[in-house]
Amino acid sequence: MNKQLEYDMKNLDALLEKVKLQGLDYLKNINERKTSTNVIELDCTKLNKTGLGGLDTLKLFNEKFEDLMVASTGSRYLGYVIGGATPASIIGDWLATIYDQNPQTINAQGDISMLIEKETIKLLLDLFNLPNDFLGGFVTGATMSNFTCLAVARQWIGKESGKDFAKNGVSGKIKILSAVPHSSVLKTLSMLGIGSNNFEKVKIEEGNRESIDIEDLKLKIDELKGRPFILISSAGTVNTADFDDFEAISKLKEKYNFWWHIDGAFGAFAACSPKYKHLIKGWETADSITIDCHKWLNVPYESAVYLVNENHKVLQMETFQNSNAPYLGNPAEDFNYLNFLPENSRRLKALPAWFSLTAYGKKGYQDIVEDSVEMARLLGDFIEKSETFELLAPVRLNNVCFTLKGEKNGNKVLSFLAALNDSGKVFMTATMLNETQDMRASFVNWRTNSTDIETVIAEMKKIKIND
Ligand SMILES: *Cc1c(COP(=O)(O)O)cnc(C)c1O
Repeated sequence: MNKQLEYDMKNLDALLEKVKLQGLDYLKNINERKTSTNVIELDCTKLNKTGLGGLDTLKLFNEKFEDLMVASTGSRYLGYVIGGATPASIIGDWLATIYDQNPQTINAQGDISMLIEKETIKLLLDLFNLPNDFLGGFVTGATMSNFTCLAVARQWIGKESGKDFAKNGVSGKIKILSAVPHSSVLKTLSMLGIGSNNFEKVKIEEGNRESIDIEDLKLKIDELKGRPFILISSAGTVNTADFDDFEAISKLKEKYNFWWHIDGAFGAFAACSPKYKHLIKGWETADSITIDCHKWLNVPYESAVYLVNENHKVLQMETFQNSNAPYLGNPAEDFNYLNFLPENSRRLKALPAWFSLTAYGKKGYQDIVEDSVEMARLLGDFIEKSETFELLAPVRLNNVCFTLKGEKNGNKVLSFLAALNDSGKVFMTATMLNETQDMRASFVNWRTNSTDIETVIAEMKKIKIND
């Protein structure tokens, strides 16, 4: 055995103890840590010939990188949609590394981790009050979940005209309707050979909305004269957390032949609160749903689930089937995750989610969701009353989209944002809504509290806006 490996294994106690203490220090003092950095390049290390061993490698990591790690899982990192990690999810994540299983199937007598993944999916269906007729699995993020769901949709629409796209490649024009698809959905369409330009934009509702105008949707459906199509809808748009009208869409589904996909990366969590679950009412008749776990479920990266109605099991298998290896069995009889999603080998991504769901239950997630929305409203209220800032859409859930009042000069907005992020106390991201330069703050971290909002507001007030 290699000497360094042998030495590290002997000293694993001491090594892990050091890492534990360092981790605790990070997690306990995260609010003192900066939320931004200006470093954009690092000196590259050459690969060491004999290796440094674990302890010296940890030292080197600390010298080179530790100070530069931003508090992106802290309570004032409001950019993008970035969740934190609950204590129980960290336990689950550590154990996923330690046990290092590869969840695929049970029939190969290999391991039972696939059963843990299936159980976790059931817990999630319970959390979201969704029926058990969704089959689900874990992928890296909502992008891959959208990819998985829309790949099955692509197979479905091919089959509608007697084609097997999985086997023979994509041909003909695939009809897709959507109003405000997330950028990752467009990326998915390009990866699927459909083309990111090849969707028809449905009008959005009037009045600060980003949701599908149902009347326009009906018009577009009528124009299709019975041709099957794929509808990509949103449970929570990134800018203003707007929701499509799922009750209306589920009624249309009774009448027309289409695949209904919901991108609910973060908005699906509205289901966790009696106050907000009306936003997703009717969603259970969708064909497929995307939900991110590394956002509002507050488990570490990488974690998301796809949910596809079990009626489409064969289509899903046709799409992802990896049946050429005799040792993998017959995909129709022996369930194996690798025949249902893009990856073959995977980490036990379900374990952090299993821990967090089990540790905090329905009440835990109701509290996280309601607290996040409350924090978004506090910031929204400040902006609404302010002389300097302008709220661009009502705070419907957890996202606050705003700009400098009366400001048409995008550069001014960007320099305000750069100065705010430079404070290191809060991080927000730039966006474009209605083609103007805006900013947004998204609240999905379990830690964020009203003291944080006071800090954020104080920092916003400090910045001079130059004319
Ligand atoms: C974040 C997000 C995605 C992409 O998710 P990743 O986890 O970054 O792959 C897709 N859709 C919506 C609505 C999102 O908020």
